[in-house]
Amino acid sequence: MRTVIIGVGVGGLAIARYLVAAGHEVEVYEQADRLRVEGASLILWPNGTGVLRHLGLEPESFGSRMDAMDTLSEDGHTLLRIELDRMAKRFGHPTVVVPRGRLVEELAAGLPEGVLRYGKRCVGITEPPEGSSGPVVAEFEDGTKAEADLLIGADGHRSAIRRHLHGETPAQYTGYATWHGLTRVPVALPDGNHGLVFHGKSGFATMFNAGNGQVQWVFVTPWAEGDRVPRGVRDERTGEFGMASEVSATRNLRERFGHLVSPVPELLAELTDDEIGLFPHILHRVPDRWGRGRVTLLGDAVHAVPPTLAQGVNQTLEDVWSLQRALTAPGGGTTEERLRAHETVRARKLQRLHTIAKGAENRPAPPRFLRFAPGLVPYTRMTSWTVRTFSEFLTAS
Ligand SMILES: Cc1cc2nc3c(=O)[nH]c(=O)nc-3n(C[C@H](O)[C@H](O)[C@H](O)COP(=O)(O)OP(=O)(O)OC[C@H]3O[C@@H](n4cnc5c(N)ncnc54)[C@H](O)[C@@H]3O)c2cc1C
Repeated sequence: MRTVIIGVGVGGLAIARYLVAAGHEVEVYEQADRLRVEGASLILWPNGTGVLRHLGLEPESFGSRMDAMDTLSEDGHTLLRIELDRMAKRFGHPTVVVPRGRLVEELAAGLPEGVLRYGKRCVGITEPPEGSSGPVVAEFEDGTKAEADLLIGADGHRSAIRRHLHGETPAQYTGYATWHGLTRVPVALPDGNHGLVFHGKSGFATMFNAGNGQVQWVFVTPWAEGDRVPRGVRDERTGEFGMASEVSATRNLRERFGHLVSPVPELLAELTDDEIGLFPHILHRVPDRWGRGRVTLLGDAVHAVPPTLAQGVNQTLEDVWSLQRALTAPGGGTTEERLRAHETVRARKLQRLHTIAKGAENRPAPPRFLRFAPGLVPYTRMTSWTVRTFSEFLTAS
C-alpha cells in the first residue's frame, strides 16, 4: 500500500518502521530540512519501552534505566516512592530515560534510504470522494504533491492534517509550563537509578539520570498564554528563542526553588538562561474518531498532553502499535474500517488520560504522613492506571 506520513517525529518514524517491515511503500515528509534532534529527555514507561523492543530497539542501550521515582518533601523526606523495578517485573519491560535526539536517531537509522523526505512542509491534503478508490493527495509548500492510498498525520500539536479534518481546534494552555534541560549537574544524584521529585511551596522540580553522565532536570511553574519568554530561553514548542530581556528564567527559578534540598540549589547556582528550554503545557481535546476515509492521525496531532505525567511519547508509541496492528491484522475489513476501529479503541483511553492529565497539572504536595509507607499507594495506583488507561500494548501482548 502507498503510505504517506507527515512528520518525522517519534510517531512518524516508528509507524514508518512498522509499515516498511509490513511491505508498505512508505514516504515520510518533514517540514524541517533535517532530522530534528532537539529536546531534552523523555521517560519511556514500560509501555513505551515495550513497543520499542517490539520494533527491535533496546532503549537501555542508549538511555538510563530508572528503578524508582521518589517524591521528597521540602526537608528531604521521601513521601512517595513509585517502585518502577517492581513494575518492570510485573510488565516485563523497564522504565528508561532517553535523550529525545538519540531516540529519533535510532528510529531513523532503521529506515531504508529515500523514505525520509526533508524540507517538505505539508500545506493541505485533498481526499477522494467518499467510496472512491482514488488517492489521497498531500500538497507541499514547494508546489509538489504526493499521492497515497493511506495518509497518516504525525505532524505534532499544530498538525495541518488535524486542521484539515477538524478545523481550527488548537490545544489549550493549561496555566503551567516546564522549564527543563539536560546537563551535567555539579552534584551527583544520591541514588543513581532513582528519579527525584522535589515538592516546594511554589511548585515542583524533578531530576533523573539520562545516561552519559547527564541529568534531566525540570521545574514546573505557573504560565499563562501570552507570558513572555526570557531572552536566550528556547521555546521547545515553537523552536524559537525568547526576546524578553527584562525577565530572567534563572533568577525566577532560584527564587522559587532555591530553598529545596540538595542538589537543587547546586544546580540552580550553575544554570544560565541559554541552557533552559521552555515547554508551555498544552492539552488537546481528543475527538471520538479523529480520522476520515483513508486519513488518520497519531501522537501529538491528536492528544498533546503536558509533560507532567510523561505520557506524550508513550501514548504516541501506543498509537503506533495499535495502528500497525489494525492495518496488518489478518482477515477482512477495508482500510477505512480498520482505521476507525483502531481510533475508537484508542479514543476511549486517551479521553481518560486527558482527564487524569488535567487533574495532575495543579499537583499538591503529598501529605507528610505518607512517609511512613512511601511505596504503598503509588505502586498500586500506577499499575492499575497502566492496565486501565495508559496501555493496551502491555495488556494485549
Ligand atoms: C524538536 C522537538 C523537541 C521536543 N522536545 C521535547 C522534550 O524535551 N520533552 C518532551 O516531553 N517532549 C518533547 N517534544 C515532544 C515529544 O517529542 C512528543 O510529545 C512525542 O514524541 C510525540 O511526538 P509526535 O511524533 O506525535 O510529534 P512531534 O515530536 O511534535 O513531531 C512532529 C513532526 O512533524 C513535523 N511537522 C509539523 N508540521 C508539519 C507539516 N505541516 N509538514 C511536515 N512536517 C511537519 C515537525 O517538524 C516534527 O518534526 C519535542 C518535540 C519536538 C518536535
